[in-house]
Amino acid sequence: MKNFKDITGRLLIVAIAICMVAGTAVSKAQTGGALTPEKINAALDEAYTKFKDVTEGKNADYIKELARVDPKIFGIALVTADGQVFTKGDITSMVSIQSISKAFVMAQIIEEQGHQAIQDKIGVDATGLKFNSIVAVEEHRGKEINPLVNPGAIAATSLVNGADSAAKWKSILQFQSDFAGRQLSLNVPVYISEAGDNLRNQAIAHLLLAYGRMYFDPAEATDIYTKQCAINVSAKDLAIMGATLANGGVNPVTKKKVVSPQTVMYTLPVMATAGLYDDSGIWFYNSGLPAKSGVGGGIVAVCPGKFGIAVVAPPLDEAGNSVKAQLAIKYIVEKLNANPYLIQPK
Ligand code: GLN
Repeated sequence: MKNFKDITGRLLIVAIAICMVAGTAVSKAQTGGALTPEKINAALDEAYTKFKDVTEGKNADYIKELARVDPKIFGIALVTADGQVFTKGDITSMVSIQSISKAFVMAQIIEEQGHQAIQDKIGVDATGLKFNSIVAVEEHRGKEINPLVNPGAIAATSLVNGADSAAKWKSILQFQSDFAGRQLSLNVPVYISEAGDNLRNQAIAHLLLAYGRMYFDPAEATDIYTKQCAINVSAKDLAIMGATLANGGVNPVTKKKVVSPQTVMYTLPVMATAGLYDDSGIWFYNSGLPAKSGVGGGIVAVCPGKFGIAVVAPPLDEAGNSVKAQLAIKYIVEKLNANPYLIQPK
């Protein structure tokens, strides 16, 4: 009797093992399989070749220094949540981070003051309007905006812990550096160029103050915000920043805990609804990935639990989003079956 039980027990284990292997084979066949280095490299190579000669779009020129950046820069980087780095093209050229910094300052505020502070003091609703819209502020008397468009971003910067401007700036630069896993620095010409010409952002900050939604001196907050936008990054830096979000707040390359998993949990949804300004809907519809763009030409997207991906290519479309970055990231996400909403029925 004992032998019989042993044999049936063993058969059962073998049967379960076969089912598990078969199940994985089926789900891999359906989803295109696991993310192997070969597949990732092939996807990056293909995207690079396919889009490198695209000439659509135009460098931002309302910040004069951005018009001078080489429009041919085209770098792609993907960093997995376990820290493997894949790159293609120009990943040494630096561009200013611009609005991409907003997502990471948002995470910093959540980390420092809790997620409710963002909801109560700024808002988490997409405005559906241009990133520097004054109407968006006026419409809801400073409410119902979000930290990823200029008004909410300047308000977020005004909330950063620190007794004075210098302390706030130091702390922002440190957070962004921790996300990137190396000491980032300021692109001084870009900062000077924008600081001398940011009356619109100053106006937004003062309007928010009038509505009681600015939490530090508005001129100083705008100045720190302008600095934060002028931090220099490469595609690889941005991909590591994205991978830190993809990995629940721990930088997968340096292993440093930058923010908590809960902070990431509250940051990604706003990137999904408002990360590409008034084109956020069309982006999310086509990629399923929370992302953030900047007028310097970078876009970073996050595949939760899997990877961060970033592209730097300066020419922008009408909404202010890099043309090539959108094309390349969408292509790679599709190739890797990485849209989290691609669900295989059980
Ligand atoms: N510094 C830029 C601005 O405030 C950032 C805008 C952007 O990247 N969309 O206008």
